[in-house]
Amino acid sequence: MSKHSDFYYKRQLFLNKRSVTGYAQPMKFSDPATARTVNRLRVLNLLRQEGTMSRADISRSLNLNKPSTSEIVATLIEEGFAEEGGKVQTSSGRRPTAISLKSDGHVVLGVELGSFTTSFLLSDLKGTILRYERLPTPPQPDAKEWGEKVIKSCMKFAASTTLSGIVVATAATVSADRRSITKHENWGWRDIPLAQAIEVHTKVPTILVHNVEAMVSAERTFGGEKSETLLYINWAHHINAAWVNNATVTSQRSKFGHLPIASTGLCQCGGIGCLETIASGWALKEKGEGMSAKQLASLGGTNPHLVEACKAMGTALIWAASITGAEKIILGGGISNIGEPYLGLIREIFARHAHHELSSTPIVQSALKEQSSNLGSIAVALDHWIFRSSILKTLQEY
Ligand SMILES: [Zn+2]
Repeated sequence: MSKHSDFYYKRQLFLNKRSVTGYAQPMKFSDPATARTVNRLRVLNLLRQEGTMSRADISRSLNLNKPSTSEIVATLIEEGFAEEGGKVQTSSGRRPTAISLKSDGHVVLGVELGSFTTSFLLSDLKGTILRYERLPTPPQPDAKEWGEKVIKSCMKFAASTTLSGIVVATAATVSADRRSITKHENWGWRDIPLAQAIEVHTKVPTILVHNVEAMVSAERTFGGEKSETLLYINWAHHINAAWVNNATVTSQRSKFGHLPIASTGLCQCGGIGCLETIASGWALKEKGEGMSAKQLASLGGTNPHLVEACKAMGTALIWAASITGAEKIILGGGISNIGEPYLGLIREIFARHAHHELSSTPIVQSALKEQSSNLGSIAVALDHWIFRSSILKTLQEY
């Protein structure tokens, strides 16, 4: 398949996606082409989940007839998403041919525009990182200058391989079509059509995503997270959060890091006493005379600045949980790696002061630990450009 036709095909899928989210004409569900698209995605997602299966297993699991299953499998093989290989063991002694994902059949590029580092990760269908590059993000980067650097790096990746899609994750609100940064949380960027610019230069379909929304996606895709109602905190240089309710993720307007926890302390947002003034990476660095939270934690004993940070975090979590009723709280981001004694202190504060019905809410570290902020864009890219599992879920609910 030529790069152009692949691009066209993905754009069509993207337009279909938009139709179910209400931007364009509604999809006709009785349409056989739509049914085929849905079944193709069901097979693709089943292979992702199960690893290796025979055609008969696929047909049984999805309640699809055998000719349709064979046709879909043939299409997936032809498109480079699946491959035949080996035999499947069965109790009857027959050994049908095994079908599995062709991991390197398609690749996606994830870009993380972070406070200190901008990372580029090339991933195969299974989320294996094939190539990783990073650039130091300048302090308060200029949108045009830094945007051009990012585009150049994306072009380098696009020139060396055929990309199925690009996802850029950053702490910003993005437009409804996910093509422009409406407002960056920390850099003063307004209305930057970044995805559009990357797409024009790379000819690869591109979308933007809020970074914590991406972290939630990584937790589910690579960390095995199944909870439908949870609060996810990105505890890093800045602090932001996502509220996940029945699989809907809301993060863009959340200002968790700016809950007024103290009565003094000037925040970078201009407010007084925000959570960030006590617990963020930038505040800890100021208090710890240039040492990072990780360095403070490795000094041994209990560091008074980190103790204060954990107490403030515990209090902020009580507020958030009291309003949302979250069934689980996940701490991700660099500072969530400060170690169990500190996380234990957060749990202690929470258990002691939260309403008794909430006090046993589990507060856990991200299953991805150090990788929690790196894999988000990859998880979103695989879902959006390849597996489209969230769209499949929507379609199946009809
Ligand atoms: Zn603030």
